[in-house]
Amino acid sequence: MSAASGKAHDVIVLGAGIVGAATAYFLAKKGFRVLLVEGESPAWGASGRNPGFQWLHTRKAGIQMELGLAGRRLADQLRDELDDFEMRPSGGMIYFVDERQLPLFRAFVAERRAAGLPMELIDGKAAREHCPALSEKVLGASWNPLDAHQNTGKLVDALVTAARKHGAEMRSNCRIEKLAIEAGRCVGVVTAEGETIPAGKVVLAAGAWSPKLLEPLGMSLPISAMRLQVVETEFFGEFIHRTFECHQPNSLAGCAHRRRHRNIQRRETMSRQPIGSRIERAGLERGALVRLLTG
Ligand SMILES: Cc1cc2nc3c(=O)[nH]c(=O)nc-3n(C[C@H](O)[C@H](O)[C@H](O)COP(=O)(O)OP(=O)(O)OC[C@H]3O[C@@H](n4cnc5c(N)ncnc54)[C@H](O)[C@@H]3O)c2cc1C
Repeated sequence: MSAASGKAHDVIVLGAGIVGAATAYFLAKKGFRVLLVEGESPAWGASGRNPGFQWLHTRKAGIQMELGLAGRRLADQLRDELDDFEMRPSGGMIYFVDERQLPLFRAFVAERRAAGLPMELIDGKAAREHCPALSEKVLGASWNPLDAHQNTGKLVDALVTAARKHGAEMRSNCRIEKLAIEAGRCVGVVTAEGETIPAGKVVLAAGAWSPKLLEPLGMSLPISAMRLQVVETEFFGEFIHRTFECHQPNSLAGCAHRRRHRNIQRRETMSRQPIGSRIERAGLERGALVRLLTG
């Protein structure tokens, strides 16, 4: 990829979520001429709607944990490079209220320590020191000081701003209808208005919508949509002191496959305070579920 290609852009990045914005930033920083195109506005998709957990607690040993730890290190680096994105490295815990869970938590903590996390098993008193809102019924918790959270929408905005400072071009409200293909190669994108924008390379970062753009090419991408709803409020004061998550079932199975859970997290001085969430396999269906916290 170089200016010698004769095209105005070395790379078109399609989709300005966290993946697209980060790709645009790092490519522009390396000197590539980047065009970032977004059908709506930056962070319109999943990246602008998540509660921003950097939740290493739930990463399994191996590639998941390696990626999680690398992402966590990168987040620390980005705090120095970008505008503030409200990252709070406040740690995280999963607590339990049933003594039958103790051996499970012991094994869980040992496994995560072996995978590289500085995780500890703490008693109820220590758990309440991290989070005074916890009830006396809480017997203990797994505690990971590396867990953090951020405002992902702000992170996307910060990445876009920094990419533009490095010369990237950003086009919002620019829906891409299809990828432009010539002789079996992707040579650009075609907008909903029918304009073809050429580029040396195209990075497809359209999240849950990526499979739709690949379908006409006979390519199937194993990305499917899940409905994950979050209830949040404006910050309402120093009430919750650490990120934590409560699992009602008498097992830790939910840590890896969290289908039904409640979580609460600290976001002091932050603009948003999530108070609960729920995951369902409802595809791209948009209807909201009102009984989010009680179900
Ligand atoms: C409610 C919720 C909670 C979550 N919680 C967490 C969490 O706590 N921690 C965590 O790590 N992850 C969490 N996730 C997952 C995380 O948000 C996603 O993995 C991540 O944001 C995906 O980023 P992305 O850039 O791939 O996709 P997206 O952020 O969805 O970005 C894709 C972009 O592409 C654009 N686009 C799509 N099609 C086109 C087109 N044809 N033309 C132009 N633009 C197009 C969209 O408008 C969108 O802006 C959560 C997700 C959700 C929905």
